[in-house]
Amino acid sequence: MDKIVALAKRRGFIYPGSEIYGGIAGFWDYGPLGVELANNIKRAWWKAMVYDREDIVGLDASIIMNPKVWEASGHVASFTDPLTECKVCHQRFRADQSDEIASHESMHNAKGDRGVAWTEPRQFNLLFRTFVGPVEDATSLAYLRGETCQGIYVNFPNIVSSMRVKIPFGIAQIGKAFRNEVTPGKYLFRVREFEQMELEFFVHPREADRQFAYWKDERMRWHRSLGLRESHLRFRQHESTERAHYAADSWDIEYDYPEWGWKELEGIANRTDYDLKTHGKWSGRDLSYTNQETKETFIPYVIEPSVGVSRLFLALLVDAYAEEEKRIVLRLHPTLSPVKVAVFPLVSNKPDIVEKARAVYTLLKKRFVTAWDDRGNIGKRYLAQDEIGTPWCVTVDYDTLETDTVTVRDRDTTKQERVGVSHLLSYIEKKLSG
Ligand code: ATP
Repeated sequence: MDKIVALAKRRGFIYPGSEIYGGIAGFWDYGPLGVELANNIKRAWWKAMVYDREDIVGLDASIIMNPKVWEASGHVASFTDPLTECKVCHQRFRADQSDEIASHESMHNAKGDRGVAWTEPRQFNLLFRTFVGPVEDATSLAYLRGETCQGIYVNFPNIVSSMRVKIPFGIAQIGKAFRNEVTPGKYLFRVREFEQMELEFFVHPREADRQFAYWKDERMRWHRSLGLRESHLRFRQHESTERAHYAADSWDIEYDYPEWGWKELEGIANRTDYDLKTHGKWSGRDLSYTNQETKETFIPYVIEPSVGVSRLFLALLVDAYAEEEKRIVLRLHPTLSPVKVAVFPLVSNKPDIVEKARAVYTLLKKRFVTAWDDRGNIGKRYLAQDEIGTPWCVTVDYDTLETDTVTVRDRDTTKQERVGVSHLLSYIEKKLSG
């Protein structure tokens, strides 16, 4: 994990938030390559959820909502974690995270500290608060959303009346969520500001179990399609004591993170009709659905797959990272790689070659995220691209001037192929779609 963190900083994926001021726990900044990888993850999700399907529509609801939303959803009263404090060093932890409690205790024990004990846990609310408008009092109190899905539930009647959707259908959303986590940490795993990719799939209550099983499989299939190794992924069903009181069933897709082991990557829940029913009650609006053919009216059940971008980002980085004898390589799926192609002039002191290489670079840059590198020798340039996961490197050499062909070097095989410049766009396109 240390190597991943160092590489991500050195190569412009992830920086600590506000670093020059000493940082701020639980907040990270995505650098030039990080923002590309994150955007590619989000694009892949949106494609699988919205563009490739006929039964899901997209939404982008606002982060700050009427505070009644959070009262109705139960977040104001009970979006809490049990907080406990170490009596030796006064550091605070989540009392329900026994691995972190145990490792903190062993740290004190190893140092020979006496009186290692914990305060009685108290409930700590994770919602961030703010005020809307110039007056800061109870009437202007608002919350940064703790999950994106509430924006979906409150828009359910708008979508039903403005779009031609019929149950079963889904609403997909990608957006920021905020949680004032007691113990942020584990790098990007537990942060206080993050993005969620959430689908709320509305179904007839009778169909809920079948749809739940479908979405469980579908989500696992998607993670594998991104290249995550099968042996690093597994399902875990929540115990009845662990899941939210309204959820009929809840499973996690877990990823086997180095150092920390199996941890939740994505949650899939059957949230029943709880959310629509509750918002219906609190808002006074009728959130039921009427099947126009059968005239049956009912409150739909909701199947929710929900995954955080940063947890997936981290899983993809660690899964792709490989140390080989002569290089470090990120074997990211090419559609996720931040840079798709790099273009090199073989030498930088021959104007003909540099000029031709610039023309190839300009050609590729119109279609793909393309890098230019003319420093050092070709071998070093390959290594620099391998480390950030660039799938193809194009070199313009002396032969290019004669034959209008370039070499294309493949990241995974390190084999080179000669390709005509006139075919280069379709060559890369074909590789990417393959
Ligand atoms: P955990 O038990 O690990 O705190 P959770 O069960 O509270 O997670 P959910 O409320 O189910 O998480 O949120 C859905 C998804 O959002 C999670 O599967 C995870 O990918 C992501 N997520 C939740 N909290 C965080 C966080 N603090 N930092 C990064 N991602 C998060």
